[in-house]
Amino acid sequence: MIRIQGLTKRYGSVAALKGIDLSIAAGEIFAYLGPNGAGKTTTIRILAGLTRPGGGRCTVNGCDVVRQSLEARRAVGLVPQAINLDRELAVAENLEVHGRLFAMPAAARRRRIAELLDYVGLAQRPHALVKTLSGGLQRRLMIARALLHEPPVLLLDEPTVGLDPEIRRRIWALVKKIQAGGTTVLLTTHYIEEAEFLADRVAFVDEGSIVALDTPRALMATQGAWAIDRFDGGGLETSCFADREAAQAFGAAQADSFTVRRVNLEDAFLALTGKKVAPQRGEH
Ligand code: ATP
Repeated sequence: MIRIQGLTKRYGSVAALKGIDLSIAAGEIFAYLGPNGAGKTTTIRILAGLTRPGGGRCTVNGCDVVRQSLEARRAVGLVPQAINLDRELAVAENLEVHGRLFAMPAAARRRRIAELLDYVGLAQRPHALVKTLSGGLQRRLMIARALLHEPPVLLLDEPTVGLDPEIRRRIWALVKKIQAGGTTVLLTTHYIEEAEFLADRVAFVDEGSIVALDTPRALMATQGAWAIDRFDGGGLETSCFADREAAQAFGAAQADSFTVRRVNLEDAFLALTGKKVAPQRGEH
């Protein structure tokens, strides 16, 4: 559904993307996980036709984002990072404007707006002004807007940034529901638990390159199965092991107080992006 080959992009002297290769299958939720400045938004903007690739090639649903830009644009629904709804208009009016932009016939527009408001939990508030909605509801309206023209691909740029944990989980449930409806989802995030919970596959991106790409389970397995956390010289030190006994023994030998837990995606991210001190002998 999405194919990215050798994608590069420069902004002046900054190499935002240094050669990205990526294929995303229909129906997948794919997370692009990385720190600020990694190149996540740049990739999304290229796929949405908002900026041109420097080099390389991208197709969405078989359409080249440069040579078939109109078709490629129709194939994606974009939820940008910043809320860009019309705050002075009502909920349904925001969708109405978007439907007209996509030249949807009036009857189809009305049917789809009603359907989507119900889908995202805003059916009771079509006439509420956007400025009166909470951040979580505004985010849901942005998702409804992106889905209005029934694109096969939904691009979510940091969909839960700034939302509290409960609202974040509601958005996650909505994203799962969208996938169950057959839509392919590419989301960027710097919340590791978001990628771990939602994604079928995850790419760790750092400084314009993909550092690792696999299922969350496989990425975690690169570090072992068990981890211990301990305070060491004022900082939190984590070590990963294949089995629980080895983790326990290492912890007991190193510190009075430590916690044994399952390896998580954050351990894999820190290790594979090189942002952790090298593993010690005997560790995975
Ligand atoms: P964030 O979560 O902070 O948005 P990101 O992973 O999405 O991070 P990008 O926004 O894609 O990263 O930025 C990648 C690099 O390109 C950064 O160094 C950024 O400063 C630079 N960059 C992005 N857009 C522009 C622009 N329009 N002009 C100049 N530099 C840019």
